[in-house]
Amino acid sequence: MSFTAQELDDIVTRRKNVQLSPHFSLNEMVATSHTEINNWPQEAEIVQNLQRCCETLLETVRARYNKPIHVNSGYRCPALNTKVHGSATSQHMTGDAVDFEIAGIANGDICAWIRDNMTFGQLILEFYTLGQPSSGWVHCSAVPPPGHKAGEVLTAVKDAATGKTKYLPGLHV
Ligand SMILES: [Zn+2]
Repeated sequence: MSFTAQELDDIVTRRKNVQLSPHFSLNEMVATSHTEINNWPQEAEIVQNLQRCCETLLETVRARYNKPIHVNSGYRCPALNTKVHGSATSQHMTGDAVDFEIAGIANGDICAWIRDNMTFGQLILEFYTLGQPSSGWVHCSAVPPPGHKAGEVLTAVKDAATGKTKYLPGLHV
């Protein structure tokens, strides 16, 4: 499913909500609790990137578990990314990455399944604690970040001493 140039123009200029894939809407992919920030995509390419995330990542995971996925964060405009202290090169800013969870399924288990069964850009298990299924979240991108190989798997943890985020290679669950 792809949008025509006219449809993309309507979406961007008229803030028209659309389904990006059978189970995911553009509204879901741009939602933020920071309602003071206009997080609507200003470029058609971002909408197309978000659609690729829905079609290639979210629908595949949803089909595996047959449960609704809660999207924590899809697109972030630069102002929103700054507000939430996102990385300066965050793939959320191009609509290439999505953070999500599934109620009742451990985020570590979801990441292990994605790693073993899917094609993706980069997969990060974020701030997960074994034994606490709903701790943390899954970050996944459809294409690799610039300078990275596709299929990179990382685990993000808070360094107890410095309070900074560390990225460990592979899944640590
Ligand atoms: Zn993320």
